Amino acid sequence: MKWSKNYIYTLKEAPTDAEIPSHKLMIRAGFMKKLAPGLYTYGNLALRAIRKFEAIIRDELNKRGCTEILMPMVHPRELWEETNRWKEMGAGLLKFQNRNEHWFCLGATHEEAVTDYIRNDLKSYKDLPKNLYQIQTKYRDEIRPRFGLMRGREFSMKDAYSFDINQEGALKSYDLMYDAYRSIFDRLGLNYRIVKADAGNIGGSQTHEFQLLADAGEDALLVSDTTEFAANIEVCPAIDATPHVSNEAEKPMEKFATPGQKTIADLSKFTGQSENELVKTLFYSANEGMDPKDKSLKAFAVLLRGSDEVNPVKVKNLLGLSNPPTMLTDQEVLEVSGSLPGSCGPVGLKIPVYMDNGVAGLKNYIVGANAEGFHLKNVNHGREYQPTKTADLRMARAGDKCPDSSGKLVAYRGIEVGHVFYLGKKYSEKMKATFLDQNGKAQNFEMGCYGIGVTRTVQAAIEQSHDADGIIWPRAIAPYQVHICALDPKDSAVMSLAESLERELESQCVDVLIDDRDERPGVKFKDADLLGFPVRIVIGKKGLDAGEVEVVERKTKQVVKLKPAEVHGQVMKFLEPGS
Ligand code: ATP
Ligand code: MG
Repeated sequence: MKWSKNYIYTLKEAPTDAEIPSHKLMIRAGFMKKLAPGLYTYGNLALRAIRKFEAIIRDELNKRGCTEILMPMVHPRELWEETNRWKEMGAGLLKFQNRNEHWFCLGATHEEAVTDYIRNDLKSYKDLPKNLYQIQTKYRDEIRPRFGLMRGREFSMKDAYSFDINQEGALKSYDLMYDAYRSIFDRLGLNYRIVKADAGNIGGSQTHEFQLLADAGEDALLVSDTTEFAANIEVCPAIDATPHVSNEAEKPMEKFATPGQKTIADLSKFTGQSENELVKTLFYSANEGMDPKDKSLKAFAVLLRGSDEVNPVKVKNLLGLSNPPTMLTDQEVLEVSGSLPGSCGPVGLKIPVYMDNGVAGLKNYIVGANAEGFHLKNVNHGREYQPTKTADLRMARAGDKCPDSSGKLVAYRGIEVGHVFYLGKKYSEKMKATFLDQNGKAQNFEMGCYGIGVTRTVQAAIEQSHDADGIIWPRAIAPYQVHICALDPKDSAVMSLAESLERELESQCVDVLIDDRDERPGVKFKDADLLGFPVRIVIGKKGLDAGEVEVVERKTKQVVKLKPAEVHGQVMKFLEPGS
């Protein structure tokens, strides 16, 4: 392909809304252009990378007996009401009416659509298991689309759904997809981790995320320094490396004045006690906003050591909510505790109080007195108040004990590129999707669902693989593998060598772009570095007259000067896996 025939452009500057390197580079390389927040046109080069990634996905899934289908992007409201997700997904679903005033939404995910597709037609245990997948545009009305394709509103996802006769079969299907995902991300040659994760509002119990490691990742991960243990911070058990258990005798409780001491840091300074000996009280609402007529406030409190941070996902799971709880407003805190935040505590509260494990070992601690400007000291649970439940509710952090060894946890940032879920019968029961078992009895399908963010992965690959000059494409998804800089495109010897190399390489499935623009060498080299294809061949009239062509590896910038006849061999060497 010649540059002049394609539509390729590069920019000197990235727009100000591009915050992370991969977003800046994709815009500067002309790979995509914003149409509106979270909506992008993919240029030809980006599309080539996307198509190559899709081909890898199809190959690994087809090999494992998965079947490709394509479902509609527009779904009727009734379908999503069957699972209650029309409400549960909230404003994340883009809803609209057609000319007949029927409600529809754009597909944010396809559990409902695929369950509808198989129900009544996938009838017998003899036809199971089945795994159906599609690669399709999804729409989610993300509150804050950002980082380009990382968090778009419209994006491409591969979503697969497995149907089995029982849990044993479903877990086998899960393992098969886990294995497929491993092969898919291995083929990209990127640095990733598989971590335990939260099921979000898809439901289900067993779930793993595939996370590409990158500083700009939105997810915090904790990984054992000793074992294979790795978890998203959202679900990572928090275990103190040295448990704090006080053996002090219980002292009489006292109320004392703490004027103006609102934060834990203030209080620590004021009392001389370290933050991990103080106890803070946070207030939340368990209302899920399902029923707008339900105005009652289902408030509850969470107790943590002053130095700890609450983990809203753990709280959500403890209470069986479908979304993490929202914090009460100051006014609501005043209503339920009698004081504004800053002087609140568990003693005398009439709402449920959930205590983090970290507080359980403390004795004679300080909490707010539920009276403005006052705190209580020498408070002990079981004596002044009774926690409703004690559980692991804090965020784990680097340095905590590894949950399955004596090792420690280490922190990383990750970009979630894939997610596998075991769903059980959640959807098949709600949607009455059954098959007939060996005894002719109707049974609900056991399901799993499996997503890969196709467009997110392509950008994440760049986030993990770039340098100051531009992108360094992994070979497997590089839009082109070879970039020929024809420095004197009007010279027939230069162009004929470029074209014959292109023919030869393409016959071996190596994609070649020839920069045949009438531009200075410096401009061409800069653009080649920015676009980041793995190998560059430089053909100039002067070099060619001396019988010399340059081959450059993008990753290492290693330059090899060769005779024209040796170029092909050197290119193939640079393109070898692991070179
Ligand atoms: P996140 O926590 O990042 O919002 P999610 O848990 O909502 O992701 P899933 O519903 O599991 O994601 O979707 C499957 C995959 O689709 C994700 O692993 C991710 O790679 C991709 N994905 C999800 N939301 C977006 C988005 N807004 N833009 C691009 N890709 C996305
Ligand atoms: Mg999401």
